[in-house]
Amino acid sequence: MTTLLYTHSSCLEHDPGSYHPEAPARLRAVLAALSGPEYAALERREAPEAALDDVLRVHSRHHVEHVLGAIPKAGHVAIDADTVLSPASGKAALHAVGAVTAAIDAVVTKEADNAFCAVRPPGHHAEPDRAMGFCLFNNAAIGALRAREVHRLDRVAVVDFDVHHGNGTQAAFEADENLFYASTHQHPLYPGSGAMSETGVGNIVNVPLRAMSGSGPFRASMTGRVLPALDAFRPDLVLISAGFDAHRSDPLAQLMLDEADYTWITEKLIEIAFRHAGGRLVSTLEGGYDLTALGASVAAHVRVLMSV
Ligand SMILES: [Zn+2]
Repeated sequence: MTTLLYTHSSCLEHDPGSYHPEAPARLRAVLAALSGPEYAALERREAPEAALDDVLRVHSRHHVEHVLGAIPKAGHVAIDADTVLSPASGKAALHAVGAVTAAIDAVVTKEADNAFCAVRPPGHHAEPDRAMGFCLFNNAAIGALRAREVHRLDRVAVVDFDVHHGNGTQAAFEADENLFYASTHQHPLYPGSGAMSETGVGNIVNVPLRAMSGSGPFRASMTGRVLPALDAFRPDLVLISAGFDAHRSDPLAQLMLDEADYTWITEKLIEIAFRHAGGRLVSTLEGGYDLTALGASVAAHVRVLMSV
């Protein structure tokens, strides 16, 4: 049984500025947490740069040209209230997408059981025609469409336990009944979308949770709504938008989860992946802004991936 770990050095060089929470130190904390002897069995791979054709499965050519054309030669350029580019940002964004597409290729062709992509910038807020919320290209959505179009999988699901709603993934999926998106998220909170009434063509499940609600309501929403809907969808591939900013230590939100919750939900998603998808599961990093909590949470998540 093999778990792959994809990352790329350019993901450490994307620099939105010294006071920005989505900092290179996040990825350093993740990689440090996965460096101990317990993680020696991870098969570490360098993420390739994504093919433009893959990015264009989700994003408009206008969006891709707008983002890549705005990359500064030096310093910083803001393309959204909180989305900032540095000289390495385009390369980092393309390798973040490439991590997910390569991981999907490897898992679908049975080179490995599952994979974790330790990448930044994150992706789930990036809409087909808009970068926002620290996200340039939607890594998970692009991976899902590649799995459908290149590997001919019928049904692909993304489950998103980041504390923010993945408006970008929802926008990319909401009209296609063979794509499934489920999100638990704090509400009200950025970006404001993700009401229970947003159901797409019956393929979108949103569970808004109140600040301070903690483990009980999170697990109940997964057990009561997300997991049954995912089970009924019968995915051929399970993708996880793995943000760890619902952790109780996170400075950007107050959902009050801890590592045990991430262990629990990872086990549940693996169960469903085995029931319907031959175990095929790829997880990609989204948010998580307390460095200690992020490292410990990723360690817990990947420990479960390696245990299957
Ligand atoms: Zn987030």
